[in-house]
Amino acid sequence: LPPLPKDAPIGPLQDDKFSRYSGVTMFKELPLSKRTQDGLKRANFSKMTDIQRASLPHSLCGRDILGAAKTGSGKTLAFIIPIVEKLYKERWGSEDGVGGIIISPTRELAGQLFDVLKTVGKFHNFSAGLLIGGRKEVEMEKEHVNALNILVCTPGRLLQHMDETPNFDCSQLQVLVLDEADRILDVGFKKTLNAIVAQLPKRRQTLLFSATQTKSIQDLARLSLKDPEYISVHEDA
Ligand code: ADP
Ligand code: MG
Repeated sequence: LPPLPKDAPIGPLQDDKFSRYSGVTMFKELPLSKRTQDGLKRANFSKMTDIQRASLPHSLCGRDILGAAKTGSGKTLAFIIPIVEKLYKERWGSEDGVGGIIISPTRELAGQLFDVLKTVGKFHNFSAGLLIGGRKEVEMEKEHVNALNILVCTPGRLLQHMDETPNFDCSQLQVLVLDEADRILDVGFKKTLNAIVAQLPKRRQTLLFSATQTKSIQDLARLSLKDPEYISVHEDA
């Protein structure tokens, strides 16, 4: 066969589902569940930001994402929507355990993510928990953590539960998110993150978002990313 021209539509563009939604600008044009659409509507989110428009058609198809966009560009919805939709499509229920994990570098950011998850996920039936240490006693969390479907956590507290909480089970995890990924992949969290990832199933969707593009091949190997979609947008302020 002759080699493909450099700009040939290989990979994602051949995916019928992706190409169908690659040009849309409004959330209501995306193939989202009514529950998610209602959550977005209630929070007055109607038009997608650039990073949402560029990444959601890929992430909703189940692809791994490496997304970069500056602070304030709307990265949170770009990973919360795919998690919620994936679990909804899988008919995830209270018996199914942990299906989504969002890791945040700080307690404060984790708290903000959790609020967005509660807003957009308002009409879904998933249980979600904020595991950040400090606020609640870890012993109390241990009694509930096995019943949660979506965890929003800091690396240290997640690993603590993996190590200490009896029957804590992430083996069915569907989607892993690293928010502010460049900070989580930084040396300070290296050991913790490696220990976490070692306990997660390799067959999962992984979404990495940060203000700067994470390109370290080593980091991507550590996270077992599968043919990730690199998305970098620079929005006008
Ligand atoms: P980032 O994580 O990229 O810094 P956030 O996800 O925190 O950005 O979003 C920044 C602000 O933009 C938040 O106040 C959020 O509610 C708002 N926002 C996000 N997406 C949209 C949207 N599609 N339409 C309107 N506002 C949005
Ligand atoms: Mg953010």
